[in-house]
Amino acid sequence: MNATQIIHSIPSDPLTGAISVPIYQTSTFIQEAPGVNKGFDYARSNNPTRKVLEDVVAKLENGDAGFAFSTGLAAIDAVLKLLSAGDEIIAVDDIYGGAYRLFTHVYEKLGIKVHYVDTTEASNIAKNISSKTKLIWIESPTNPTLKVSDIKEISKIAKSIDALLIVDNTFASPIAQNPIDLGADIVIHSGTKYIAGHSDLVAGLVITKTAELSEKIKFVQNASGAVLGPWDCFLTIRGIETLEIRYKKQCENAFKVAKYLVNHEAVQEVYYPGLATHKNHEIAKRQQNGLFGGIVSFTLKEDTQEEAVNVVTNTQYFKLAESLGGVKSLLCHPAQMTHASIPREIRLKSGIKDSLIRLSCGIECAEDLISDLSESLKSITKEKNSLFI
Ligand SMILES: *Cc1c(COP(=O)(O)O)cnc(C)c1O
Repeated sequence: MNATQIIHSIPSDPLTGAISVPIYQTSTFIQEAPGVNKGFDYARSNNPTRKVLEDVVAKLENGDAGFAFSTGLAAIDAVLKLLSAGDEIIAVDDIYGGAYRLFTHVYEKLGIKVHYVDTTEASNIAKNISSKTKLIWIESPTNPTLKVSDIKEISKIAKSIDALLIVDNTFASPIAQNPIDLGADIVIHSGTKYIAGHSDLVAGLVITKTAELSEKIKFVQNASGAVLGPWDCFLTIRGIETLEIRYKKQCENAFKVAKYLVNHEAVQEVYYPGLATHKNHEIAKRQQNGLFGGIVSFTLKEDTQEEAVNVVTNTQYFKLAESLGGVKSLLCHPAQMTHASIPREIRLKSGIKDSLIRLSCGIECAEDLISDLSESLKSITKEKNSLFI
């Protein structure tokens, strides 16, 4: 969808003409007679403000229906509840840390086995298939090393074994990538990130491809009850109004920052799918609508946690915080923050080195972001130089 279509997919209020979506702050709805209502009976099952958000995100991802949850992890949890004990998942190896924790420490206990593989090579998936494989779970690009997997290719594998392909599309956002169009069955978003976009709420979204899946997710949403409240639904809708312009600016800033870092003497490696040197650049170019995202990760020549801490504590505009996708730039040290729950050897195997730093570029001026990093990286170099004086 282009910016016009996105903005005008958000309806004005048919009742009053209000141009913005009303916040229905209510738990229940009066019925004329038992079971006779205006389409709403109890706010866990449905709420008019949430319905607008859910309809808009379904359109954003070309799905059958959308569902809004209290957090991204609640959205992931709802999809996992489609499984039964004995089922297996094949998941991308550098999966979001919170998803790893949920898969491994909650669902494995309930009898669901997860195989973590490098999904950038589709053949790795084929090697781990069994008759019990029910879900293939990918993120593309991944967090934080920005690996890109070929969604179309993987969807063919999923179809051939009658498994569902789930794509966590948080990093690409619906602006860069629409996984359902590429063959995915379910799309997940942490709405907390780009979609709401202002670092002022937590939210999760599920978008389903078929009416059959919609019915199943709707059932879980109501049965488990982790719905998004009306106020946060309103803020998320308001965020969506500027999603396109924000995301494009963030991509532009990230590309400039990535190009700057590539040439910096203290930097070892830059991970950004827009760079021709990125391992999966060709796939990214093919499936991401010419947009490579607002996240840039990099490692330092001195690959230590101490060096990384030096960098992340010496910036002015890039604020040290978990999360990403907001209008203000953030940075973090995954080994000690977002991915602290992953054991070191597993973390290293999936490329999350000790000095890896993840940047989430906001919508500030690119020059300011670059000079901020330049100053921060200088402070390390200075320290180093002082050793020789
Ligand atoms: C943040 C994030 C999540 C979890 O979302 P919350 O809203 O924090 O629960 C899931 N997947 C990815 C890729 C994320 O970045």
